[in-house]
Amino acid sequence: MSIHDLDFITEKLNELKDQGVYRKLTVLGSASGPRCVINGKEVINLSSNNYLGFANHPRLKEAAKKAIDDWGVGAGAVRTIIGNMTIHEQLEEKLAKFKHVEAVLTFQSGFTANAGCIPAVTDKGDVIISDELNHASIIDGCRLSKADLVRFKHSDMADLERVILEVKDKYKTKMIITDGVFSMDGDIAKLPEIVELAEKYGCITYVDDAHSSGVLGSNGQGSAHHFGLSDRVDIQIGTLSKAIGVVGGYVAGKRNLIEWLNHRGRPFLFSTALPPAVVMACMEAVDILSETTEYTDRMWENARYLKDGLNKLGFNTGHSETPITPVIAGDDRKAIELSHRLFEEGVFAQSIVFPTVAKGAARVRTIVTAAHTKADLDETLRAFEKVGKELGLIK
Ligand SMILES: *Cc1c(COP(=O)(O)O)cnc(C)c1O
Repeated sequence: MSIHDLDFITEKLNELKDQGVYRKLTVLGSASGPRCVINGKEVINLSSNNYLGFANHPRLKEAAKKAIDDWGVGAGAVRTIIGNMTIHEQLEEKLAKFKHVEAVLTFQSGFTANAGCIPAVTDKGDVIISDELNHASIIDGCRLSKADLVRFKHSDMADLERVILEVKDKYKTKMIITDGVFSMDGDIAKLPEIVELAEKYGCITYVDDAHSSGVLGSNGQGSAHHFGLSDRVDIQIGTLSKAIGVVGGYVAGKRNLIEWLNHRGRPFLFSTALPPAVVMACMEAVDILSETTEYTDRMWENARYLKDGLNKLGFNTGHSETPITPVIAGDDRKAIELSHRLFEEGVFAQSIVFPTVAKGAARVRTIVTAAHTKADLDETLRAFEKVGKELGLIK
């Protein structure tokens, strides 16, 4: 036995195996599309965040190829040294216009946007008031902040008010932070009520629109736009990695906020800028969203079709309000079995179990995209019907 065997890690891995939570990654053998290849088999893909089908869209691919010819494959440095290309600034201007905000700053991902922005805008003597189901990157951003953290029950406005009343006289800046759309249940944050409470008690609001960028709002501008609150939500996080189809994240808001992040957003300062192909493909995506609602319309139409179909069959789809549709199976084993049998029937829908979701609420999670055809969805419903009856989930 050698110190270099890292036995302490093997022990931890064994613990995972004992708990039944050790897993291997699914390997995608093709581009991410409505149908894809997994383990050598073509299946209908219901597990991507590629809401609009942009990840493999011809216009985005063309833009990326041209960007490589014009600008190379890398930005060459962090933004604050010499990695800040004309095209980075153009993308940010385009996003600001699209979001109806004064300014935007891009980051390497939605994750780093949260990890950079939360600790930059909050400090010792401040408090962050966070929905208990917020995303891991928000949790990590809060950990990096010197501010105190308090949680409120998921989307429970009475509990939010209780928490605010507890802390409101003890802190300088008070920031309420929430996902715009919650990724496991597909429910939308109660932004109108949150903003109302924030204004009543002098809090600022921070909304992470990772699952709402390109999904909610008339052209996919996000949850604040969806509720007509673009000028009353102080900080909006967006991702370029989900509906936009590429990779990256951004912060949208007032010019002073963006200038501050220019000086204090650590991933912005200390990690290399987005590569040109990514920047240009994202610009193309925003152009498409600005030109037409064709993609968002089709995504919503498909989402309604699948949700209605699943409900008519008798499945429990929780309280989803977006294209994220869970099919709740109950215990972990049942959800895993449902996912496994669906795959055999030609449908890939990942199972999600404890501790990601509560015990007894294990599920397969589906995300329908604009790129799915009616035939894909009918085939999906046939597979769900067959497997659901087999497993006693429906009659
Ligand atoms: C996916 C997600 C992120 C991370 O976005 P990336 O661009 O993939 O890093 C951040 N916040 C929420 C709420 C998410 O769902």
